[in-house]
Amino acid sequence: MSTKRILIVEDEQPIREMVVFALANLGYEVREAADARQAQELIAERLPDLILLDWMLPGISGIDLARRLKKEELTRELPIIMLTARAEEEDKIQGLESGADDYVTKPFSPRELVARIRAVLRRGGPAAENEMLHANELSLDLASHRVSVGEALLDMGPTEYRLLEFFMSHPERVYSRGQLLDRIWGSNVYVEERTVDVHIRRLRKVLEPHGHDALIQTVRGAGYRFSTRV
Ligand code: CA
Repeated sequence: MSTKRILIVEDEQPIREMVVFALANLGYEVREAADARQAQELIAERLPDLILLDWMLPGISGIDLARRLKKEELTRELPIIMLTARAEEEDKIQGLESGADDYVTKPFSPRELVARIRAVLRRGGPAAENEMLHANELSLDLASHRVSVGEALLDMGPTEYRLLEFFMSHPERVYSRGQLLDRIWGSNVYVEERTVDVHIRRLRKVLEPHGHDALIQTVRGAGYRFSTRV
């Protein structure tokens, strides 16, 4: 595997240093920019494999930079993880619409960040391109991250998407909350088990108007199962 190049765009130097240190230790090649202009210069010089992009930057904001990158042919496919102090659902939706692939909310631990980076890089791999997952009328496009039922596009958060992608690629099996946490959030991340229930509930809510919420089944005393069988 070749060394993955990561660009961190963050105006707060201590955060930048912490991230650079953690990632360099794991063998990533890390470059840093303190603002969007500097980031654009570095990207033009050499395309990174992933960008960690702070939301609140002086000058051009992280959101605006994400939008610009997603518009350009050269950088359209570049995975972006937003670093954000905001945890509001509204902000997450706005960030998602700007084209970010995932979020890490500050303050975050290096472990949490690395788990997200690995997940995003894995997702963006060439094997994932042009692949579709189907269950009844529900379709999930691994390349574009679009989820649809017939003609209707379903709008969901990044965690709900990851959950659904995991379920659709592992149907008919029961997973405990702990197993789902490991697979979706990463085993190094400390999240309470009831967080799983919260995201399952959100996912069902997205699927419900399209009649597909029953695909996600609660298995009492065991966990959850994705199944097209009733
Ligand atoms: Ca900032």
